[in-house]
Amino acid sequence: MTGGSMPLHSKSRWLPQDSFSFGAITLLLLAVALFSWFTSQHWINQRILTQLQELQQQSYLVAATATQDLQQGSGQISDIAQTLASLSSTRQFLQNPRQPDALQADLDRFGERFRLNGIWLIDPQGQVLAQSPAGLALPSFNPANGARQAEQHGQPLRRFVFEPGRRQATFYYAAPVMQGDRPAASVLIRADVQGISRQAFRIELLVTDANGIISLADNPDWLLHTLPERHLRSAPPPSGTMPLPITMSPLLPQVLLLGPQKAPVLLATHRTTERDYQVHAMANAEHIYQLAKEQDRLAAIVTLAATGSLWGGLLTLLTFKRDRRHRLTVSRANNELVRLNQQLKQMATTDFLTHCPNRRAGETRLQFELANLLRHHQPFCIVMLDIDHFKHINDQYGHDTGDQVLRHFAKVSRDTIRDTDFLARIGGEEFLLILPQTTRQQGMALVQRLLDNIAGTPLYLADKTVGYTFSGGLTQGREEDGINDLLARADRALYQAKESGRCRICVE
Ligand code: GH3
Ligand code: MG
Ligand code: MG
Repeated sequence: MTGGSMPLHSKSRWLPQDSFSFGAITLLLLAVALFSWFTSQHWINQRILTQLQELQQQSYLVAATATQDLQQGSGQISDIAQTLASLSSTRQFLQNPRQPDALQADLDRFGERFRLNGIWLIDPQGQVLAQSPAGLALPSFNPANGARQAEQHGQPLRRFVFEPGRRQATFYYAAPVMQGDRPAASVLIRADVQGISRQAFRIELLVTDANGIISLADNPDWLLHTLPERHLRSAPPPSGTMPLPITMSPLLPQVLLLGPQKAPVLLATHRTTERDYQVHAMANAEHIYQLAKEQDRLAAIVTLAATGSLWGGLLTLLTFKRDRRHRLTVSRANNELVRLNQQLKQMATTDFLTHCPNRRAGETRLQFELANLLRHHQPFCIVMLDIDHFKHINDQYGHDTGDQVLRHFAKVSRDTIRDTDFLARIGGEEFLLILPQTTRQQGMALVQRLLDNIAGTPLYLADKTVGYTFSGGLTQGREEDGINDLLARADRALYQAKESGRCRICVE
């Protein structure tokens, strides 16, 4: 029994035992690992892409709004310049330059009212005819040029520049003063552009001028730098300018690494037809870049978790199955043991040939009946039965026929007696009949009937009929009896029956 169950636990518990399921499970685990690796990679990629797109759209929106604000401001300044150019005091001054007072008053009034940083009236040769406030130097932006251009085309001209000396982004506006259909002078006005920060979460604004130089920035560190060319519409910036410290990120081509800290940013440029300036939004892409950096680690964690839980599940299943097999084997072995025990017990108490209880079982039953007599005073009889001339039957028909006679005798006897009676084979052709709750007379009647039955029912065989008889010695149990006393009395009665001619019952 133990030999059968040993191998179940002597091998490793963690591996399936046959190579087929081992291979199948390995393949399954491999497939799940590959699937989870690629699925999670794809999923993280999608997340990165959507987040990039969202941030980009947000940046464009912020840049577009800022552009609108700038356009509004510049539109206002253009209106002021045109108003100044068409003032009657301006025309009168051009006709009579010796009376500048009315014009000066108008220029001062406008400058103050609209917080302008300078107003100049310039003639076509670039000479300043009037200005407000007084004593202000002509700006670095060549207004004479601008003004002349304005005069030539009869069109207003506008510039957005960063003035390094003042560290200030500035709008210049030149409007022609027409006399008839000919420009006679230009009005040039200068207005500072204040910050344009949108205070948008994680988004900074940069404004580049026509040369691609950063002229307005939330972070003053970036002022006067140039943006990479691909973010500019114009030609390469003039030499001597510093490019913004930006490198391409190795992980995501859309993300740039800015400054010495290599902060990941997204740069979105709002492209308009505006030629003077361009607005760029620089968004902090730290969270997206972090996700890209962690991508492999995240995918590995997902893969490990998926294969790990699958392996755990399989292991539980296998262990469960193996335990069940083990329990089944043990219970089968137990059942077998119980069956064999019963068989052994029966073999120890049963006669093989006739299937009657054997001598030992007969003695046990005798003991029980004696105890019962002592306790409950219930009478019982025993009869010692011996087949007559059995040796002769053996000699005449053979040993096999003798065996058949023994079986025949047992069967006819069992059919004759009651279920509560007890027939044991205690010797070769000797039987012991125990008759509980039976008096001597009742016992005699029963054995007599048995004698008749045996005589009337011979053993019919294919080629012969074997008739036989038996002799019996009957005695009733007494309270002072032991087994041996009882058996000895029955034996004596049997001897008597044999002596007096056989085929009869004697009582002791
Ligand atoms: P009696 O009428 O005086 O009893 O004569 P008997 O021949 O029956 O008695 P005896 O004791 O001389 O012979 C008994 C014979 O029973 C001897 C033995 O060979 C035979 N015998 C004992 N056991 C078996 C058995 O299991 N099978 C067969 N076929 N014969 C058996
Ligand atoms: Mg005998
Ligand atoms: Mg005999």
